[in-house]
Amino acid sequence: ERKAALAASSGPGATSDGHKVPLLANVGGPADVPAAVEAGAEGVGLFRTEFLFLDDSTKAPSEEKQVEAYRAVLEAFPEGRVVVRVLDAGADKPLDFLTPADEPNPALGVRGLRSLLDHPDVLRTQLTALAKAAEGLPVQLEVMAPMVADRADAKAFADACRAAGLRAKFGAMVEIPSAALRARSILQEVEFLSLGTNDLAQYTFAADRQVGAVSRLQDPWQPALLDLVALSAEAARAEGKSCGVCGEAAADPLLACVLTGLGVTSLSMGAASIPYVRSALATYTLAQCERAAAAARATDSAEAARKAAEAVLSGA
Ligand code: PEP
Ligand code: MG
Repeated sequence: ERKAALAASSGPGATSDGHKVPLLANVGGPADVPAAVEAGAEGVGLFRTEFLFLDDSTKAPSEEKQVEAYRAVLEAFPEGRVVVRVLDAGADKPLDFLTPADEPNPALGVRGLRSLLDHPDVLRTQLTALAKAAEGLPVQLEVMAPMVADRADAKAFADACRAAGLRAKFGAMVEIPSAALRARSILQEVEFLSLGTNDLAQYTFAADRQVGAVSRLQDPWQPALLDLVALSAEAARAEGKSCGVCGEAAADPLLACVLTGLGVTSLSMGAASIPYVRSALATYTLAQCERAAAAARATDSAEAARKAAEAVLSGA
């Protein structure tokens, strides 16, 4: 029965009353594209470009090599959106030529956008390669920066995108609580937000995502995390801009409904999760998702939040 429901699930993501929530895929490179297309992804919500840089940790790949890889992904979604994240090096993804070797706490050090602002040549090459890769393609290219902490970060990234002549929407990932708390100020510089709930949980709860002993605090159902998602989504709505989720949270069908109820405008996940999320969303109205979200936020633990959402939606 479950299988039949999933097979019947196709088309754009939407609640049962037709509120659209585009379902996008997280990809690591061209190799992940066929599964995303097969799952009916409406585009790519997170293209992690790190894979290109992992072959050789001593230097950045050439502009030509980057153009080729980006084009292979952009070509696969002629009608869709592709959100490319610029290089997110450091912490759990160190690169010799970028990441300082002697940091006492790399997750709180020079990583993500911080590395790129310290190495503007690497950012410039990546943005130029993206501009060339998108040339002549109808795809809607969007480019975002990881680890944006404040408005100055967002402005520095948008300035770099403009300087590279990139014709794309520029966005900021919300992975640091400061960015969620001041989302409206960040949105003065960029056109969209994308919540990276994996890092947002790590930094909200001071719980390293690589340390199993604190995994309880990495649970995206934590009400404090839901509050930060709501703040970001409300800020985006007030500014008339979009706010997606591209962390693991989006892949949990029940949580995807809650995120929708919190005002998130798109969900991006590993391709394998898309049919499950599509079918869950299609079961409930937007108002039911909103009631589930409010019930989850009214609790004091991840477990209670999930139960509260389940209770609302099972009685729906
Ligand atoms: C996140 O932090 O939620 C995210 C999507 O980025 P990554 O998992 O690549 O750090
Ligand atoms: Mg992240």
